[in-house]
Amino acid sequence: MFEHDAVDVEQRALTGALPPRSHVAELVAEAHARYAGLDEGEVADYIPVLGAADPARFGLSVVDIEGTSHEVGGVGDTFSIQSISKAFVFALVCEELGHEAVHDRVGVNNTGLAFNSVMAIELNGGSPMNPMVNAGAIATTALVPAASAEERWELVRGGLSRFAGRELELDNTVYRSEAETNHRNRAIGRLLQSYGRLDPDPLETVDVYTRQCALSVTAHDLAVMGATLAAGGVNPATGEQVVSAEVCRDTLTVLASCGMYERSGEWLFEIGLPAKSGVSGGIVAVAPGKGAVGTYSPLLDPAGNSIRGQRACAYLSRALGLNLFASIHRGASELEASHV
Ligand code: GLU
Repeated sequence: MFEHDAVDVEQRALTGALPPRSHVAELVAEAHARYAGLDEGEVADYIPVLGAADPARFGLSVVDIEGTSHEVGGVGDTFSIQSISKAFVFALVCEELGHEAVHDRVGVNNTGLAFNSVMAIELNGGSPMNPMVNAGAIATTALVPAASAEERWELVRGGLSRFAGRELELDNTVYRSEAETNHRNRAIGRLLQSYGRLDPDPLETVDVYTRQCALSVTAHDLAVMGATLAAGGVNPATGEQVVSAEVCRDTLTVLASCGMYERSGEWLFEIGLPAKSGVSGGIVAVAPGKGAVGTYSPLLDPAGNSIRGQRACAYLSRALGLNLFASIHRGASELEASHV
């Protein structure tokens, strides 16, 4: 998947802050230039309207925990957030219900199967397994404490807007396109209901989930949302405490094990950061205590991860010293390379 073309970049083991700002800006520009011409992969079209996405689009944004952004390309291009919403709805639900309830009701283990697998539910006695697959995300949305589907939707939209630092809007065209074709997700809702895993009405819950996936965002929004998770829950653009630092830790842990579909292990091995991707082509990768990368490019690998986005993140993880697992000897300089 990665072709290992970022291996020529020195792997830094950098604790503390990001490198100086001018250097970050240079490396973000270099990451964009390296991969803008890469045209491997396919645009998702199982949600019909996504098939019309322009494959040339490529936006790359890095936002640090102080709110400074470094951006190149189409960072203002809008797209539907899709599965990336799962990370932030999970955080909102953790904030409301706490660590244990979410662990018990949803789970935190990877399925090793596709994001919309029905077999994964059956193989695991009705458990939705983790909040980053569709079953677990639908179960998580059902846990948003609300008296009606409409109230649940407003809480989700409002919560994700607080992560983004601006009011996010529904993309009605994407919502309608998915709502007309999401028979599989409705089946997943019914299956969870049959196992007693969903308290609210399953079809209404799937509808709220479909709307959350159709919220319109930019690569810049994703970087701000990720930087909020990197900064102990404080949105660096607005200064608002959106969720607690403990919730950020729990969310990032689940992203590390489950955020990149069934390729999560491979992603962690190459890039070493908690991240989430979505089938419209977005990726958010979070460097705790430092900041986040947001990317948009709709050409995907077979698992559903943006190819340019993955390559740009691999490059930046190495060049900016973001890999959480990069090892360094005590006493060595912070910037000393640990070659892998
Ligand atoms: N709304 C999409 C679905 O449920 C999200 C998929 C994704 O981005 O992984 O199929």
